[in-house]
Amino acid sequence: MKNLHRHHYHKIRSGSRLFLSARTNYSAASSKLVVGGKTYEDIPKVVYNIAPPMDHKKELYVEHNTRLPSILSALEKAKLTPEFRGSEIVQLNSSRKATLKDIQSVHYSNYLSILKKFVEDAKSGKPKPKSSDLTFAMQGFQYVTATSYEVSLAAAGSGLSLVDFAVAASKINENCPVGFALMPPPMHHVLRTESGGCCYFENAGIAARYAQRVHGLNRVLIIDFDVHYLSHTNDAFYDDPDIFVLSTHWDEGYHGKFDDTGSGRGEGATLNLPLPEGSGDIAMQSVFDEVIVPCAQKFKPDIIIVSAGYDGHVVDPTGSFQLTTGTYFTLASGIKQLAKDLCGGRCVFFLEGGESEGVVSFSVAESFRAFVGEQSMAPEFEKKYAFFLHDEPINKVKQAIQRTKHLHSI
Ligand SMILES: [Zn+2]
Repeated sequence: MKNLHRHHYHKIRSGSRLFLSARTNYSAASSKLVVGGKTYEDIPKVVYNIAPPMDHKKELYVEHNTRLPSILSALEKAKLTPEFRGSEIVQLNSSRKATLKDIQSVHYSNYLSILKKFVEDAKSGKPKPKSSDLTFAMQGFQYVTATSYEVSLAAAGSGLSLVDFAVAASKINENCPVGFALMPPPMHHVLRTESGGCCYFENAGIAARYAQRVHGLNRVLIIDFDVHYLSHTNDAFYDDPDIFVLSTHWDEGYHGKFDDTGSGRGEGATLNLPLPEGSGDIAMQSVFDEVIVPCAQKFKPDIIIVSAGYDGHVVDPTGSFQLTTGTYFTLASGIKQLAKDLCGGRCVFFLEGGESEGVVSFSVAESFRAFVGEQSMAPEFEKKYAFFLHDEPINKVKQAIQRTKHLHSI
């Protein structure tokens, strides 16, 4: 897999040199990185932000508030925190909240009013409203607590701080750090008008709009490798030619279809690649090489936003894929390289799904290893899961890839 990728990157590099120099405005004179009033002597390789935890303690929900602590303890155990890495890995500690303007760039005000109403009711101990309109809008919510609104604003804000960091760093140095927003709720199911999954705000989409509006990064590529279809594909950006949404997901047969490619001016800027049940490392390797790389090259993004879901792992109870953490390492390293080759390294990952805390934690650690340029530890970790792996439906995967390539002329 590594050799294949190297080959691709060589092609990307040689083909994009002119493009990069025209697009990336490095300022050699100002070598100090200043973000949010803080000066960084060195450019880090990874910048992460931890959103405050949700007040969610119920068992059996994806969004359980032990998820983030478990990731953090995995990072510490793997010595992938600032304490062990000095300036190479930075934790932002930003407590910034997204503004109403940020949120409304993706969600309708009506939805916000409804969410606030639920939160107010939760504060006062009232039962959920019975109105059919309200319950429709909130149908996907696992549950709402008194802190849900404020905490969700902070989660969205933590992603925006990472966009700021990436943009500032990319102006100084071509080795821009990769951002990773470690936040509670998987959010790629939430729509403009209603909640979904266990999502409140569509944080990756809000970051995409923010990158456009505040930093003038017009072309945003969103890559979503969560095993589930990202509902916002057909919602917030479906008619937008400047936000390319590329989603690989389990083919459940009723949404996120091949032919859903965007509408109006956005026709062609949505790529759905449903993959058959049982797709694994071989499938994702082919998808990366044959779809993600050429698509990114063709689109020429100014920034890459990643909806990083780890529920495609072979042991995840919600998914139907059989990926291993080695593939998450390769995706992280491949996407980082794509960003470097195509858009000054500007790239921010957003944590999405993944029910197995051990797998999610290790996968985030693997991503950090990829970002700092270290070797994957996946083979050791995966030993205990080898038993679950079986043959992949290679022919079906090939057909899916061919159909996608044909539809999108790549
Ligand atoms: Zn998912």
